[in-house]
Amino acid sequence: MYLPLSRYSKIIKAFKPERIYTKMTIKKLSKQLFGTNGVRGIVGKEITPLLALRIGEALGTMRPGCIAVGMDTRTSGPALANAVKAGLMATGCDVVDCGILPIPALQYIVKGHYAGGAMITASHNPPQYNGIKIIEADGTEMGDEETIKLEGLLDKSTNLETQSWDRVGKEMPGAHLVDTYVQSITSHFKGLPGKGMTVVVDPGSGAACRTTPAILQALGCRVLTINAIMDGTFPGRLPEPSAEGLQGLAALVVASKAAFGIAHDGDADRAVFIDETGTFVEENHEFALIAQHICKTAKGTIVTPVSTSQMVEMVAEKEGCRVQYTPVGSIYVARTMRELIDAGQPVIFGGEGNGGLIFPAQQFCRDGGMTAATMVALLAETGSTVSGLIRKLPARHMIKEKIATPKGSYLIDKLAEQYKHESLDKTDGLKIKRDNEWALIRASGTEPLVRIMVDSPDAASGRAFYQEIKKTVDKLLETSA
Ligand code: MG
Repeated sequence: MYLPLSRYSKIIKAFKPERIYTKMTIKKLSKQLFGTNGVRGIVGKEITPLLALRIGEALGTMRPGCIAVGMDTRTSGPALANAVKAGLMATGCDVVDCGILPIPALQYIVKGHYAGGAMITASHNPPQYNGIKIIEADGTEMGDEETIKLEGLLDKSTNLETQSWDRVGKEMPGAHLVDTYVQSITSHFKGLPGKGMTVVVDPGSGAACRTTPAILQALGCRVLTINAIMDGTFPGRLPEPSAEGLQGLAALVVASKAAFGIAHDGDADRAVFIDETGTFVEENHEFALIAQHICKTAKGTIVTPVSTSQMVEMVAEKEGCRVQYTPVGSIYVARTMRELIDAGQPVIFGGEGNGGLIFPAQQFCRDGGMTAATMVALLAETGSTVSGLIRKLPARHMIKEKIATPKGSYLIDKLAEQYKHESLDKTDGLKIKRDNEWALIRASGTEPLVRIMVDSPDAASGRAFYQEIKKTVDKLLETSA
């Protein structure tokens, strides 16, 4: 179905900047139970072992063969993982239990070796949450169409084929497989780029405890850690790597004179940074910085959702590269990257403005470990500091606000009508594009609220654009009441 990576490298080498690009847009389809990030909810309420068992049976029916199962550090992980495994084995699948590991590690392990994967994780959510993400045999998250089929099988009236005693599956240990992920990342970097560099890692008591310190050590870094004992109660900080939660990391970076600090969410597909002065690096800056680094050596397309700052596009275009936009959600980014490559276009990088970056040379999913390693190589090559590099990026200002209303789709339709004489993009919600700034209005899929984002060159123009949209929205809500 997809090109092998070796053929993909040949396309990258054959790239000509003047090439005409195919427009490619993946559409979001609505699902019942699964959201953009799999099934997720509060344990014991929405997420139960019974649901996990049923998902295991449904997945085993859809993807017969051997399935790799992994989890993050949450206290409810073992109960749910065992239920998923029971469902899989009951339908005749063999399972490999990889234990606790980052989701990109499970995706790497699955890619090309297993019929699929199931990851028990709630990513950045608080400890009372958990969930399940399904991985396809190519290592990508299951797409909307297949997920809708899987949801159809969860219907209680559907008869799933559980097997007799001589056909049930068996379980095999796979805790050692995480090492292949660590080795695969370090194999992209020559020598010891981290030699003489101190780095502080904050895995937030999550799955990256097993990988990021090892990756950075293998690159020659002196590694210090904080919150690096796996613990599903998350005693040091919550799994979301927010600036407020990373004050301990920031203090340790400054005290140890480290080159940077890095923190992950619970399942370590995202990575965020603290610069050498102890300042949190806004995630669009992180994206632009790494995009700039990649665009200097490879030319092609960067894929990202419509919500990413224009800064990334500005940096890419300066280096002779371009940006392709997708709906919001890493799965749409990853799948668009693969489809563009299948269509013969070179795709050099992808990701979201939340620290979730996708390196196609490694795999088509957000990868926190690869992000950590790339930052080391970037600093070694430029000989600069993180704050020095950030200062040289184009100035942008982003506003993120939300308005509580259940009338999301009504508002978006009305705004599209009112702004029809401007440049509009309906890839996800409504994006109003002006010369050097844009506003994005999206209805939340899970809550009764509308998100408004404005990306502009400075705070004053951003504020003015936001106020204009807000005033229009308020008026529309008033008249519709
Ligand atoms: Mg995550």
